[in-house]
Amino acid sequence: MFSSPEEVFEKEKKYMMQTYKRPRMVLKEGKGATVKDSFGKEYIDCVGGIAVNAVGYCHPMVVNAIKEQAGKLMHISNLYYTEPQVELAEKLSGISGMDKVFFCNSGAESVEAALKLASKVTGKHKFIAAEGSFHGRTLGSLSVTFETKFRSVFEPLLLNGVEFVRYNDAEAIRKAMDDDTAAVILEPIQGETGIIIPSEGYLKEVREICTEEGVLLILDEIQTGFGRTGRWFCKEHEDVEPDIMTVAKAMGAGFPIGAMLAKEGIEFETSEHASTFGGNPLACATALAAIKVIEDEKLVERSRELGAYFMEKLHEDAIGSNPIVKEIRGKGLMIGIELTKPCGEMVEKALERNILINCTSDTVVRLVPPLVISKEQIDKVISVLYEILQ
Ligand SMILES: *Cc1c(COP(=O)(O)O)cnc(C)c1O
Repeated sequence: MFSSPEEVFEKEKKYMMQTYKRPRMVLKEGKGATVKDSFGKEYIDCVGGIAVNAVGYCHPMVVNAIKEQAGKLMHISNLYYTEPQVELAEKLSGISGMDKVFFCNSGAESVEAALKLASKVTGKHKFIAAEGSFHGRTLGSLSVTFETKFRSVFEPLLLNGVEFVRYNDAEAIRKAMDDDTAAVILEPIQGETGIIIPSEGYLKEVREICTEEGVLLILDEIQTGFGRTGRWFCKEHEDVEPDIMTVAKAMGAGFPIGAMLAKEGIEFETSEHASTFGGNPLACATALAAIKVIEDEKLVERSRELGAYFMEKLHEDAIGSNPIVKEIRGKGLMIGIELTKPCGEMVEKALERNILINCTSDTVVRLVPPLVISKEQIDKVISVLYEILQ
């Protein structure tokens, strides 16, 4: 259809809103933890579709599940029962320890649902979020997103009772609470802000404060979920149970699907919330296959082990002691390398050397590869990063 990558770039510019800045290459196919561009150049992918492609590209079980379900019933609306949806709800409940599920199509939508649900069950309308938070781009989810660069041109936003407090400071949350506080919303690790990992005990303390004050706790596990941090969900590291949890990204192995999960009794009633596409049979069959791959191939454990290996190698190979490197932090295969300067140049140089990495919050190189990445591929990534840093 296109005669050259240049034609793709030109038409993209002509016909699409310029919301994304991208490198000049066109990606065509992927397998495992690698992708190929239109010239057949192969890259090791440490971006993973932004922590989405956990089971790797074109996993046969996922591809087959899509083919099979697409040949049966793709969409029917939520006016009718379907089996994949109910099966997925049961499965999600089992792996997450949450009781009830509402299906939607993206991360931001699951946050919207969570905010609405918290308002409805508490009858209150204020939210507390953390400085540095990222919860999505729709007006509601943007209202609890901190960064000025995402918000400023749209202000005033929809929710006006949002207070931002310092991340990793549980007492600040207590101080921000008042009689109209519905919920606290937090990422267990801040992803978009540069893989910010709170101190041990923080989430537990927040949980206790919320329970004492009768305020709901919403954990946004959209980026950290489905094995990314070496547990099914990041909350397990600290044994913390939220009242509401949001998931999306890796849930459908690349097929768009999200869900809001909640504890018994924290629920919408008939007609209070809905989504036309939410939880359609194709999306749910795909997510069921993705979860089965994570189970069968023990990807949660793999994330934990390879994450530890990755971190150890980063330190061993003197990347951590390079003067440009400020800090390396991570949990499972969610790793950030904070530099003392913007990392755009490093991203470009890695691309030239067949490695995809990306930059969050200007100075942090984010590594969130497919959980199926191999040790050899990790070694390759590290040697390239080392070379660039030299
Ligand atoms: C990506 C992300 C979102 C938004 O998800 P979309 O699917 O892009 O709407 C929300 N919260 C967190 C923590 C995320 O990483």
